[in-house]
Amino acid sequence: MLIDYRSDTVTRPTPAMLEAMMKAPVGDDVFGEDPSINQLESLAASMFGMEAGIFCPSGTMTNQVAIKCHTQPGDEVICDESSHIYQYEGGGIAFNSGASVKLLHGDRGRVTAEQIKAAINPDDVHRAASKLVSLENTSNRGGGSCYNWEEILKIREVCREHKLAFHLDGARLWNALVAKNETAKQYGETFDSISICLSKSLGCPVGSILLGTKELVRKARRYRKVFGGGMRQAGFIAAAGIYALEHHINRLKEDHLHAKQIADAISTRQWLKELLPVETNIIIFELKEAGSAPQLVANLKEKGILAYAIAPSRVRLVVHLDISPAMVERTINIISTL
Ligand SMILES: *Cc1c(COP(=O)(O)O)cnc(C)c1O
Repeated sequence: MLIDYRSDTVTRPTPAMLEAMMKAPVGDDVFGEDPSINQLESLAASMFGMEAGIFCPSGTMTNQVAIKCHTQPGDEVICDESSHIYQYEGGGIAFNSGASVKLLHGDRGRVTAEQIKAAINPDDVHRAASKLVSLENTSNRGGGSCYNWEEILKIREVCREHKLAFHLDGARLWNALVAKNETAKQYGETFDSISICLSKSLGCPVGSILLGTKELVRKARRYRKVFGGGMRQAGFIAAAGIYALEHHINRLKEDHLHAKQIADAISTRQWLKELLPVETNIIIFELKEAGSAPQLVANLKEKGILAYAIAPSRVRLVVHLDISPAMVERTINIISTL
């Protein structure tokens, strides 16, 4: 059997999650009548102490809807150069919102208040109007790196001072909360909008939630419909989300431990040039031999392990719910033979 570390999106619902899905009460959500979706949205909002939430089919949609809510065409979004919103959402910032982007060179996906301050355009007709700051926690390209909370507070101050909206792409925020012992509420108090994914580390088949004020979520409902994301009896998938929020957050510690164990095995290898610090469930490493990532990935595949070459010399492994301790042991044994 293949052990799949390509992404934490590859998980399949557990039997208990499937049972919760089968039993879900449903209705037409475009009419606001799906009890399971309504329950999921209010559960997530209350976990973060935020006013409201809206369930969407993907994290790309929750991010893009948020950017649309916060900006007008010609406005500028400030984010790290490796951000998912910029790199992996099909140019959606331009396509959906007509906004421009100022990219910052952060440390493993994390930017500082100083960098943001320096990136804000003056109020000048020649320049795009700086409107939104978007952070990513944990950072995907940063190898699951977590923000320092003090820095987030400093960035919040810069946003307040310059009247910038403050968005969090929290696709893997759950991993950061568990790794750094932080609470959802402290994030809810700090950001204007938060996107959280259910289909990554929490093991759901589908779904993300955008959280914010009632006013923001009211606008978001309109944009979700325009983007084609209004679903009908989607309570069946929302029920997986409710189940995951109740049962799959604390267990992320296990994934983080597994990631460290695998990283320890990788760190002893001859072919390793650099291993990014492993803070959560993502392992990224650079190989000594330039361009050899596809070959290493092929060697791993031959031995039953799936990984992902994210660059010619860079490999990524992501640990998740469907990776058992026995699989980790097997992986470590295989890595030690390479
Ligand atoms: C996966 C991911 C998303 C959303 O991806 P979808 O596949 O559209 O759900 C957003 N941000 C980050 C950082 C991600 O890793």
